[in-house]
Amino acid sequence: MNDMDTRARARIDLGALRSNVAALRAKAPGAAFMAVVKADGYGHGMVPCARAALAAGATWLGVATPDEALALRAAGVGGRVLCWLWTPGGPWRECVEADIDVTVSARWALDAVVAAARAADRTARVQLKIDAGLGRNGAQPAEWPDLTAAARAAERAGAIRVTGVWSHFSCADELGHPSIDRELAVFRTAVRQAADAGLTPEVRHLANSPGTLTLPESHFDLVRPGVAMYGISPVPQLGGPADFGLRPVMTLTADLASVKRVPGGHGVSYGHRYITPGDTTLALVPVGYADGVPRHASGSGPVLVAGKWRAVAGRVAMDQFVVDLGGDAAAPGDEAVLFGPGDRGEPTAEDWARAAGTIAYEIVTRIGPRVPRVYVDAPAAGDGAVGDAPAIGDGTPAVGPGGR
Ligand SMILES: *Cc1c(COP(=O)(O)O)cnc(C)c1O
Repeated sequence: MNDMDTRARARIDLGALRSNVAALRAKAPGAAFMAVVKADGYGHGMVPCARAALAAGATWLGVATPDEALALRAAGVGGRVLCWLWTPGGPWRECVEADIDVTVSARWALDAVVAAARAADRTARVQLKIDAGLGRNGAQPAEWPDLTAAARAAERAGAIRVTGVWSHFSCADELGHPSIDRELAVFRTAVRQAADAGLTPEVRHLANSPGTLTLPESHFDLVRPGVAMYGISPVPQLGGPADFGLRPVMTLTADLASVKRVPGGHGVSYGHRYITPGDTTLALVPVGYADGVPRHASGSGPVLVAGKWRAVAGRVAMDQFVVDLGGDAAAPGDEAVLFGPGDRGEPTAEDWARAAGTIAYEIVTRIGPRVPRVYVDAPAAGDGAVGDAPAIGDGTPAVGPGGR
């Protein structure tokens, strides 16, 4: 049985998140820290994670969409906020008015933010992004001189202030990949050209989690880790979280909804892709692909039930999956641990990633809104991060909506 009257829950250890921020800051002592909290804090809850990261020394928050940035401000979260994924017609003016640093990768976006700044009668904070080789967003190097010159002109006119120049790696998680040095060189050139254009950005930044952990030459003025802050190794082929001083923040558990004896030869779940090999006990775990349990892990996803790892028997369904306990005993209400830090013998998000043929980023970010987030070791009562740490509040476990 669990501490809560819910079918399943994702326990979010904010103390682990803070210590991960400290461990990452120690790897980049000369750089400011931008905590990347996009995608609802990689599924951990954007607002509580943002607050915990700021408490641990982050001074910037990074999000993809302007809506995420505005949601941080609407929740009263301070600190500098950078967002980077814009489309024409986006809430430029709202972001300028909410003191959000906005990223510009092209002339149309510069024109939009200049118009928004004029409409708001404010100076917009703008960061310029170069495509150093990822081939995703960012200005091409050929467009960079024009973009930086136009940005400088807008600065002189008082519409904007260029606060940053940045880029994003393509293959920083592959140690020694030839693109790394190439992209570093493109970025250094872009930084120099921005200075030549007369721009004086506060921060120049490039490093994601793998860059923060393995490429000191990529740290510049600020590092931008995401997944590592949540205690997941960004380079699993080099080492697990503990090898980098990190601890997984999310533990996903569910209470068994059914335990029953069945005879041999019994089909299990849709399509009968599992047939009981003999008389056995089946346990029903009440989470499924609608909760983010990957259907690709049918037949292979690991779960700790009744003291042992079991694999999902047959297909993961929308709301539930089955495990075969063999001769072992369990009761309805017993806890099934899908993943956690791993130190109580449970699988990790990385184990699920391997089972599903994906990366641990996808496992945690897809845990759905139907699974309540339960915050433990919250930094302080009354700051919006609910918690059940014994020293705080009345000790009542509280369920958050995931922070948004
Ligand atoms: C998601 C993201 C990050 C963080 O990446 P991690 O690999 O999770 O550290 C940093 N910068 C940008 C632009 C991103 O989109």
